[in-house]
Amino acid sequence: MSGAVFPLLGLSRHRMGTDGVGITTLAAAAGCPLHCHWCINRDLLSKAKAENVTPEEFLERVRIDDLYFRATGGGITFGGGEPLLQADFIKEFREICPEEWKITVETSLFVPRNYLAQVIDAVDFFVVDCKDMNEDIYRKYTGEDSSVMEENLQFLLQRKEAESILVRVPLIPGYNTEEDQKKSAEKLREMGVKRLDLFEYRPL
Ligand code: SF4
Repeated sequence: MSGAVFPLLGLSRHRMGTDGVGITTLAAAAGCPLHCHWCINRDLLSKAKAENVTPEEFLERVRIDDLYFRATGGGITFGGGEPLLQADFIKEFREICPEEWKITVETSLFVPRNYLAQVIDAVDFFVVDCKDMNEDIYRKYTGEDSSVMEENLQFLLQRKEAESILVRVPLIPGYNTEEDQKKSAEKLREMGVKRLDLFEYRPL
């Protein structure tokens, strides 16, 4: 064991049809490298507010829903923050959790490549929040360079079934238009993305 821990902000049980197949438990991770303008989690993302749990401790907490996961083809969804920053934890958790459980990761893919490569076999479904495929819009909205996300998505598409990757394309008030959203979708289809979710951010 590597001593990996997950900075757990909270657990949400018995989720259905919101983040992953079947019934899922969502585990939110602290920490995110992006600075999205409309981030609703900004105040929550501080690692100071998280509880560090080992894979074994985490398994004990989520095991209570084992029967639901098995009966519905569900499992654990790691969200955030940016859960791929906890790649070593996710990989270790996969090794000790029941084989039948499905692991989903909700990610911006704005992480160093080796984090993604580390979990590629451990994760069943990826839900990718791409923000926008236009580099200027992406930078304006997140404060970062879109090429990291784009190259990681290409890497993912070359290694996983297209059916296991859902890319979410938001309409972001004040940052992009429906036309931009359509252009992003078009570019993603050209890259080989088969599952797209076009939706609108509704800032609180
Ligand atoms: S990627 Fe998500 S968690 Fe991170 S800053 Fe953007 S909205 Fe917030």
